[in-house]
Amino acid sequence: MSSFADIVLPLAQPAYTFALGEGMEVRVGDAVAVQFGKNAVYTGIVWRLHDTPPTKGVAKPILKVLYDKPLLSELQMRFWEWIADYYICSVGEVMRVALPSIIKSKARCEDEFEPYTPKREITVGLVADAFTEEVREKMARRAPKRYEALCAIEKAGGVAPRHAVELDSTALKALCKVGLVEIGERDYTLDCEWSKTLLPRLSSAQSKALNEIQNGLTDKRVALLHGVTSSGKTEIYTHLIEERLSQGEDVLFLVPEISLTTQLVERMRGLFGESVTVYHSKLTPQQRTKLYTDMLSSESGNFVVGARSALFLPYKKLGLVVVDEEHDSSYKQSEPNPRYNGRDAAIMLAALHNAKVVLGSATPSLESYANHLSGKYAYTLLTERYGGVEMPDIRISDTVRNVKRNERKLHFNKELLDGIAERLECNEQVILFQNRRGYSPYMECPSCGWSARCPHCNVTLSAHQQKGRMVCHYCGYNEPIQRYCPNCKTSELKPMGFGTERVEEAISELFPDARVLRLDGDTATSSAAYNRIIGAFARHEADILVGTQIVSKGLDFADVTLIGILNGDNLLASPDFRAEERAWQLIMQVAGRSGRRDKRGEVIIQTAEPTHPIYSTIGDYDKLASKLLAERKQFGYPPFVRIVKIAMRSANQKQLVDSSLKLGEQLRNRFGRRVLGPVTPLIDRVRGEWRVELMLKVEVEASFAKARAILREEIAHLREVNEYRNITIICDVDIL
Ligand code: ADP
Ligand code: ZN
Ligand code: ZN
Repeated sequence: MSSFADIVLPLAQPAYTFALGEGMEVRVGDAVAVQFGKNAVYTGIVWRLHDTPPTKGVAKPILKVLYDKPLLSELQMRFWEWIADYYICSVGEVMRVALPSIIKSKARCEDEFEPYTPKREITVGLVADAFTEEVREKMARRAPKRYEALCAIEKAGGVAPRHAVELDSTALKALCKVGLVEIGERDYTLDCEWSKTLLPRLSSAQSKALNEIQNGLTDKRVALLHGVTSSGKTEIYTHLIEERLSQGEDVLFLVPEISLTTQLVERMRGLFGESVTVYHSKLTPQQRTKLYTDMLSSESGNFVVGARSALFLPYKKLGLVVVDEEHDSSYKQSEPNPRYNGRDAAIMLAALHNAKVVLGSATPSLESYANHLSGKYAYTLLTERYGGVEMPDIRISDTVRNVKRNERKLHFNKELLDGIAERLECNEQVILFQNRRGYSPYMECPSCGWSARCPHCNVTLSAHQQKGRMVCHYCGYNEPIQRYCPNCKTSELKPMGFGTERVEEAISELFPDARVLRLDGDTATSSAAYNRIIGAFARHEADILVGTQIVSKGLDFADVTLIGILNGDNLLASPDFRAEERAWQLIMQVAGRSGRRDKRGEVIIQTAEPTHPIYSTIGDYDKLASKLLAERKQFGYPPFVRIVKIAMRSANQKQLVDSSLKLGEQLRNRFGRRVLGPVTPLIDRVRGEWRVELMLKVEVEASFAKARAILREEIAHLREVNEYRNITIICDVDIL
């Protein structure tokens, strides 16, 4: 019997040692209640049992074991440890994102663990003896719909879930009465026999891709499915998913943002039944806790659709992880720790389970593409859209020339205006994309140059006309819009640049008869609001949709034939080394929303720099990728190096500068020229705190584990200096 336990608490701290009470039975992975600090009671996870008393002080006792079984398996613990180690944070910080908050909070400790009761579902069974040749023949003639439904049940093995049977209740009652079917009940299962009959038939290009993936995965862990938008990647996934589920394995389908996946979940429920689990951070803590504990008590064979937090569910035997839109930067948690990438963590989790991974995208990340080139990943290319829909025609519109010729009206070039007029004439729909919300990014005084700035952050305030306020997009600070310059008090302030709100206003002015909707962070404030706007546009209750990035993701509108990208230069303006890759991905994703069914679409990109090389590679991924990879290699960027950003923050500017210089020096002593900075970021003050950054670049050939260990060591070393105790230091590994 061990007498001590190291316990992980949901804090940015190492594990602490507690004492086991007399006769107390504690297992590794157990959730326990412990007192920590003055009066706080926390839920912690037992990480290690041993007999070594703490070197300092006396170990406090464990108060209580909370559940009748461990919350974490050995494998999950290895996964948490990997994340903490790789992303340079504590295991306790991983606990904060990994477990639903009810489990983490102290309120839970008095609650009892509820035993798992499986959900039940209604079934429809076919009475085989009654379904004679004679009956069949008669039904086929007189009631072909009913006949088909019965055949489908037969094909699925005689029993099917009620929701999947295409019979209304009258028909069902009638069939019961004559003894052809029986209504039953059973535990919810993912019924694969049934799914198999519903899976879409693949086109020959899709079948070929499916085969390639299956072959590729025989000797490789990861397959990259590079399929243009609308090529039917989802249909290919469903076949792979069914294959794993029918072997009783768990499957995880990861999506970058769950709010955008209503359509996907509906499709999956249609195929795999109600027991498809949807898991993400927007569920209530109660819902998440229920799903977690249900799964803890269930066998394998679970199918989960979720955002990155779904990686932490207690899978028993994970067989497959699908990472859809693998290039999407929302897979990375930007704030707070652990700053992990869901895609990369998925590959690690799959390795722990000896499972397979399929990464899918129309615009693969350069990292994944390089892993294909080096032979690490299997690769499948699907260039054909399903049903022979053509790729949209992408045209560049020269803004400077338009201005010179006096052909630009408000924010629109002639080509775009003509295009919109033409499409509206044919009763087709248009999407206008601008990657800025609000009315204008700043208001400026034409006489003295004054513009409103945030008192807490070093940025200008954006004008939001509808709210009548100037808003800081970094901290949310806002104040009323002023009409006159408070500095020189002579001139009226002028809105500079344009956001979606101003585009909406301008387009309504130019096309007064068109119905316009806007989709951005200000209008899609909840998923209900989002669904309302999307739904209205999909039903063609509006002609033009103005929006930010949100419009580029996973939407399928039948009548959209023209997409205008209002400012291509904006996309490329960021100093980030990924600017071009991002701009390209965004253009292709936005373009993918047009001409999806029977109409060829068109994309018009307005730019003041039409000769920018990115525009000549549009539509040619290989060419773009080789160009960008060559540049990344030459200048030392991912995937040829790993980058850790060390962000330092403090309200005390002097201490911040001193400490960052000191850390820079320490790191340079260990890493030499691999260290860059400290530098001041573009926005050097946010929420009243000053910011500086250091960068560490480690060649992929070098040991990254060793580099991380040194980095941790040097940060700990800096922390020994008393004045630097209160400086926030954040490591961001594999920045996006
Ligand atoms: P992607 O995920 O590659 O953008 P989707 O899987 O969303 O493409 O497919 C695009 C459209 O084509 C969807 O409406 C889908 O239902 C349809 N589709 C694709 N493949 C098939 C198929 N094999 N059978 C029937 N419909 C299909
Ligand atoms: Zn002024
Ligand atoms: Zn601010």
